[in-house]
Amino acid sequence: MSRSVCSRMCLTDKLFFWKQESGTGSRYQLKKERMFAIIKEQEVNIRLDQIIFHIDVNSAFLSWEAVYRLAHCGEQLDLRKVASAVGGDTSLRRGIILAKSIPAKKYGIRTGEAVWQAKEKCPGLVVVEPDYKLYEGCSAAFMDILREYSDMVEQYSIDEAFMDMSESCHLFGTAKEAARQIRERIREELGFTVNIGISNNKLLAKMASDFCKPDQVHTLYPWEIRQKMWPLPVSELFFVGRATAKKLFSMGIRTIGELAAADPAWLKEILKKQGEVIWAFANGVDLSPVLDAPPANKGYGNSTTIPFDVEDLAMAKRVLLALSETLGERLRADRAEVSVVSVGIRYADLSYFSHQKKLDNPTNLTLELYKTACLLFEQLWDKRPIRHLGVHTSGAGGESFCRQMDFFDRTDYGKLAKIDRTVDNIRGRYGRDAVRRAGFLGQPISHMCGGYPL
Ligand SMILES: [Mg+2]
Repeated sequence: MSRSVCSRMCLTDKLFFWKQESGTGSRYQLKKERMFAIIKEQEVNIRLDQIIFHIDVNSAFLSWEAVYRLAHCGEQLDLRKVASAVGGDTSLRRGIILAKSIPAKKYGIRTGEAVWQAKEKCPGLVVVEPDYKLYEGCSAAFMDILREYSDMVEQYSIDEAFMDMSESCHLFGTAKEAARQIRERIREELGFTVNIGISNNKLLAKMASDFCKPDQVHTLYPWEIRQKMWPLPVSELFFVGRATAKKLFSMGIRTIGELAAADPAWLKEILKKQGEVIWAFANGVDLSPVLDAPPANKGYGNSTTIPFDVEDLAMAKRVLLALSETLGERLRADRAEVSVVSVGIRYADLSYFSHQKKLDNPTNLTLELYKTACLLFEQLWDKRPIRHLGVHTSGAGGESFCRQMDFFDRTDYGKLAKIDRTVDNIRGRYGRDAVRRAGFLGQPISHMCGGYPL
């Protein structure tokens, strides 16, 4: 953590405690005062000259597909210039739109909607299937360029990153000049375009990169909030989802400016913690630092939409095993163990139920995860046809290498760990299909489900 961030955080704490000790007014008033303290401190933040960039690849999956197909497959058609989308296979029911071109946007096609719905809006829509390996490669190349400009780069998602340019910006000129340089290098060397938002904190930089697309650099400094951010619809504020926007609308709050002017105590009463956060965001306040190392993963999970409705226990258990295989592999790769396992079922009518259990001993053994998942599943399932199954975990920590003995449990956990390690090694060297359980032979599902965050 940089020194400027440390000093900013201490300052906030001091202001908060000072307000608390002074003992003025109710709890809500204190909260309100704390908010104003943070805003005041934001002015200190400006003086500390923090320069934060948010870089966002324009229509990432689609751009990456287009560039790859033009450069390596000899295709003449640039997907970015026609109504096109990246979407899952409709025959497998994973058919949702993951990314769309700007011409496709004009037909009202939205990310997350079903491919068949999108095709109804635009019958000539070109849909290509996703290639995650390619996207991971493109993302890594994009991140490598960013790291040449700052050693404080936080990868926020596969196609977004924050950079703390406070220390290195002067080497490349003004903040705008540095951003232009990064944008041009990515376009020339990697062939796709990005938007870059510049500000003094992460929230404002993220809002700025969203302004006008593609291939643009925008600033949103605190003194520009009134003019550039407050007139926008409240639904465009980061952290305001569709449900929250609807609630805010019913409260008479339509723009970000109206949210900023609202009473934070009132917002907290209705929207709880989120009310406080979005009020601070609407006022341009965000104290989170750029983290150059990703935070430790607290939970691991895996879920899959099954190509057909599952109606028998044996098939459901097979899917749970396939999910546990990938989950266990990821846990062991991170040298992590989990202490809570949960199973989620989405029925054919799209209703969703879940059930969880705390384990006696943290684990990352595939068979133990699977057995717990089966137990939970049998307690939860009401025999209706299943469309989607998930195995999720929480309470992740490092490997403990010890286990509370149970007089009645004769399982040889050391042996299970050895088997898992051996299988991981074989799969690591020869591919995931090099070893598979016999139970999956001739079955219509993959022996290792999921693996990509959905
Ligand atoms: Mg993007």
